[in-house]
Amino acid sequence: MLQLKDPTLLRQQAYLGGQWCDADDGAAFDVVNPADGERLGSVPEMGATETRRAIDAANAAWPAWKKKTAKERSAILRRWHDLMLANADDLALIMTAEQGKPLAEAKGEINYAASFIEWFAEEGKRTYGDTIPSPSPSSRIVVVKEAIGVCAAITPWNFPAAMITRKAGPALAAGCPMVLKPAEATPFSALALAVLAERAGIPAGIFSVVTGSPKAIGGEMTSNPIVRKLSFTGSTAVGKLLMQQSASTIKKLSLELGGNAPFIVFDDADLDAAVEGAMASKYRNAGQTCVCANRIYVQDGVYEAFAAKLVEAVRKLKVGDGMENGTTTGPLINEAAVQKVELHIADALGKGARVLTGGARHALGHGFFEPTVLADVTPDMRVAREETFGPMAPLFRFRTDEEAVALANDTEFGLASYFYSRDIGRIWRVAEGLESGMVGINTGLISNEVAPFGGVKQSGLGREGSHYGIDDYLAIKYLCMGGI
Ligand code: ADP
Repeated sequence: MLQLKDPTLLRQQAYLGGQWCDADDGAAFDVVNPADGERLGSVPEMGATETRRAIDAANAAWPAWKKKTAKERSAILRRWHDLMLANADDLALIMTAEQGKPLAEAKGEINYAASFIEWFAEEGKRTYGDTIPSPSPSSRIVVVKEAIGVCAAITPWNFPAAMITRKAGPALAAGCPMVLKPAEATPFSALALAVLAERAGIPAGIFSVVTGSPKAIGGEMTSNPIVRKLSFTGSTAVGKLLMQQSASTIKKLSLELGGNAPFIVFDDADLDAAVEGAMASKYRNAGQTCVCANRIYVQDGVYEAFAAKLVEAVRKLKVGDGMENGTTTGPLINEAAVQKVELHIADALGKGARVLTGGARHALGHGFFEPTVLADVTPDMRVAREETFGPMAPLFRFRTDEEAVALANDTEFGLASYFYSRDIGRIWRVAEGLESGMVGINTGLISNEVAPFGGVKQSGLGREGSHYGIDDYLAIKYLCMGGI
């Protein structure tokens, strides 16, 4: 069992309207450690009824929360942030146990997660409105921004803490309550955050965590008219479904969906820097992030040299249990994830690609996979179209800048893209040509709390983080003052 400094952070109950509770029918489901398949514990298998109760509690708590000054809400959120940092070691242990990522990465995520609470605690004080010159001498026009109301959130397992705080931070700072459904694989991280929210003094009903059936909980969240906004991070398929379901009540939506990030290495790139960026972008979290490089395009003249340097770096990765010192690559989340990587490799090899390193399941078994590099990958292969979500780097070859941009944009996704070049003209042309919400130029790491994270095309709607991130939780109200 986990050796936590504060064992009360590991909760096996859901948190609804300020109460820790079981499912109405007592049903529960197990949570396992992907590194060894061991059962870590269980959480309630809740459905529509419990979700409705959490939504009602949020609605009841909303007026008092909205009425607080931004400064008062900020002080409470600041305490939540401080508690996350004070308990970072335990939160990281819980995360590694249920998600698999190396402990150092888990700790990094806790800091990153807390940074959204800190950032939005401050931004909540700056939700400025406008005054607009009136076309009539006897009226004045004022625009104010108000909390949109009860928000629902559905989050994935790849960042079990940060995907929550990047939604809850702006929602709560803006004056909205939030009902959250975390991913089935990683509910303990979410529930630990709820423990700390309660300790920080976030009032009952303002932050609830409902665990259980995605369909039943998602169905209630999208059809319940009290919920004014839904924020979702996950697959494009589920995002489309939730968007359809939300149509019946015209909910405001934030969707952070799949990516298929291109990573382009031009012939004038600093190859060592490009390899370092590719390693960070591709192999972080065992390749399980929506901004992971999915397609690596290398210009003809530097293709062999880049491939050799990348293989050398990949061979230094250490696959293992995330709890062990020195592990750089943990297990994939489950068997289906491993099968997807296998499928992409088999498909590519069947169409002429070559394995430069890795290529198979790791001897450790479970979700472990060998960090892999494939060469001679071409656009007709599956990996060109679909997110692999695993530690496999496919190397495509290109000749001209125009070809690279066209290949990069040949996808329905548009979340992140990356490229390496030292030519200023090329940098501007390519940055402007890429169809994506975010572009990493000579860097493989782009996420932080101060910058707007989000996509174009079928990668989603809205932006998280930055001063833009709070807009998604605010409604604009126009006041027309006449008779002046
Ligand atoms: P992933 O491939 O990352 O697991 P999903 O989109 O399946 O992506 O999961 C992201 C989140 O969406 C998880 O919390 C999951 O439980 C939830 N989810 C999956 N299917 C549905 C659904 N039909 N309705 C609501 N939420 C869902």
